[in-house]
Amino acid sequence: MAEWDYELFWNKTMDHIRGELGEQEFSLGFNMKYIRATEHEIVISIPTSLQRDMIKKRYLNNMENTLKSLSNKNISIVFEINSDYKDKEAPNPQAVPENKAVSRESPRSEKKKESNFQLREDYTFDKYVIGENNTFAANAAMAVSRNPGNAYNPLLIYGGVGLGKTHLMQAIGNYLFNNSENKIIYITAESFTNEFIQSVQENRMPSFKNKYRYTDVLLIDDIHFLQNKAGTQEELFYTFDALYNAKKQIVFTCDRPVSELKNLTDRLKSRFEMGLNVDLQPPNYETRCAILKKKIEIKNIAIPDEVIALVSKNVSSNIRDLEAALIKLIAYSELVGKSITLETARQQLKDVFASPRQSNMSIETIVRVIAENYSLTINDLKGRKKTQNIVFPRQLSMYIARQITEYSTTEIGQAIGGRDHTTVMHSCNIIEERIRSDPKMESIIQNIIRTIKEYSAKS
Ligand code: ADP
Ligand code: MG
Repeated sequence: MAEWDYELFWNKTMDHIRGELGEQEFSLGFNMKYIRATEHEIVISIPTSLQRDMIKKRYLNNMENTLKSLSNKNISIVFEINSDYKDKEAPNPQAVPENKAVSRESPRSEKKKESNFQLREDYTFDKYVIGENNTFAANAAMAVSRNPGNAYNPLLIYGGVGLGKTHLMQAIGNYLFNNSENKIIYITAESFTNEFIQSVQENRMPSFKNKYRYTDVLLIDDIHFLQNKAGTQEELFYTFDALYNAKKQIVFTCDRPVSELKNLTDRLKSRFEMGLNVDLQPPNYETRCAILKKKIEIKNIAIPDEVIALVSKNVSSNIRDLEAALIKLIAYSELVGKSITLETARQQLKDVFASPRQSNMSIETIVRVIAENYSLTINDLKGRKKTQNIVFPRQLSMYIARQITEYSTTEIGQAIGGRDHTTVMHSCNIIEERIRSDPKMESIIQNIIRTIKEYSAKS
């Protein structure tokens, strides 16, 4: 496998941790050495398995996240126990020779640990708040965890950005990691693609196939990334069939319903749709409050209920934004040494609340721009008249709202004349059909979207 040089990133990661822990604590636990790396893996030597386990448990996420933000790549850290190094750096004649400790572990359990490097420890079911927006998906995920390969296979979780797909998928992985002997692989579709391409280039396809076709649980995140990647699609198709026929559990996530994916072979689409497809919707106000309360409880800090209400009311796009607002408040209070009050929250989150993504204006803006563009009134678009000159722009506004906002089909239907979500879905299908049959349609729509964005940036 090609060697990569990540030593600089590694050193910076250590600097980062040293900064967080302070010199003294750092020097107690962190006598590790960079040895070598491949594109997605850094090998680090560490004196004892005890230290390795402590680091894995408490700092691995932090280290891997830091590496990721420095390198823009998913890099996992693999530890090698090196007793020579221990003798030199930290002599301890009483210590049990480490090679013994390693050989006690069966090769299978070693393997299992390696694959778990990809899972975030905090993405578990007990930290996942179940609300009206995700009950079905969460129940399906728990059923799969209890009965992998049998309950629902494959399980596909879809929904917009920041709605909890990755968390739910990794909760399955974490549950099975802790409660079974299953070998688990979690990977994003993007990393899967990169690994596949590299394996082809370096003539390592047999080991690639071995890895993915002989796992017990395969979790592939963000499969929309596979659009246009014909080679990877083909490989995944064969991987899928091998695992499926062996009754191994497969879970996918996707940012939209499979039927809306473009440039994906029909046979792969049909595989994705074979088991159970469940969607995640944006959480309502009560669920947003419950999620914030849970996060606060985990972080063990005090935030008044009125602040939780304020944030939940104003940040409705998705859970990632909700969490980001909370983190901003906590950082402010820690850095300035003040407790979080309604006043400071209002002050600190003013920009967040005003961003176009959070503003209820966006569907209104879409409707207004489209009405102007087609010389209609807003009431025409929201109304019930069914003449062709009105129906098409009306459908277009629903389609564009779906494309450029985070609103659910229910919310869009509501905002555009109190319509049902199935009407919105139907409208989107019709516009997509028009785009397919009329080559000019795509650019007409892109122009309108540009105008809407300019308009909303100004207002
Ligand atoms: P996605 O993969 O859909 O973009 P993530 O799974 O990354 O979204 O979720 C974004 C953030 O929101 C994560 O920090 C996750 O822990 C949190 N989150 C999402 N849904 C929930 C939930 N139901 N309860 C608690 N936290 C959640
Ligand atoms: Mg995700």
